[in-house]
Amino acid sequence: MQTLRICHLYGNLMNTYGDNGNLLMIQYYAREKGYQVETSLVSLEDDFIADDYDIIFFGGGQDFEQKIISENIGRFKKEMTSYIENDGVMLAICGGFQLLGQYYVSSIGEKIIGLGVMPHYTERQIDSRFIGDIEIFDEVNQQTYYGFENHNGVTYLTDALQPLGKVIKGNGNNGQDKTEGVHYRNVFGSYFHGPLLVRNEWLARHLVDLAIQQKENSAS
Ligand code: GLN
Repeated sequence: MQTLRICHLYGNLMNTYGDNGNLLMIQYYAREKGYQVETSLVSLEDDFIADDYDIIFFGGGQDFEQKIISENIGRFKKEMTSYIENDGVMLAICGGFQLLGQYYVSSIGEKIIGLGVMPHYTERQIDSRFIGDIEIFDEVNQQTYYGFENHNGVTYLTDALQPLGKVIKGNGNNGQDKTEGVHYRNVFGSYFHGPLLVRNEWLARHLVDLAIQQKENSAS
């Protein structure tokens, strides 16, 4: 039986609002496809080797944990860039999505440096958060996704990046430009907690299908 290798990036620090449910969904659909799953936690003391994984999950977290990770994650930049540019599959939620970008300004105004593998950046709102139900439309895949957002950060994608979807209801990345999340190569970022994949089965199956496809491509 083939194995789908999942990397749970900083999973012991980034796991707010039931985000780990996304992991359960990835495991569930991978097993349904006839794969056994191997899930590895990669955190502060571990190495990350791009070739060791078929899919990466990076959950959301609070400012405190994000700061700790910001001081640790830089050592992964080379391997993570190669993973992403070789079409590795990744799902990053909220704080994880923010940390893939250039920087994140915390609610107290501290600039937290991101991994910088993508050009987006995140500023803060003063005395305000975006909290509530959210609905977006993914024009690439013609799908509607439903979820719940809870974030202080306001993210700007820059012209180089496409969003995961267009906001129908709620705030999304910044409450202004109607973008939500990011979709770059096989990297999917989103502010949806809820968790995203439990409420949006199509996307869960899509991520697993992409990871299997990538695995087959690299084996042939
Ligand atoms: N601390 C970040 C923010 O408020 C991320 C929060 C989260 O992951 N829920 O924007």
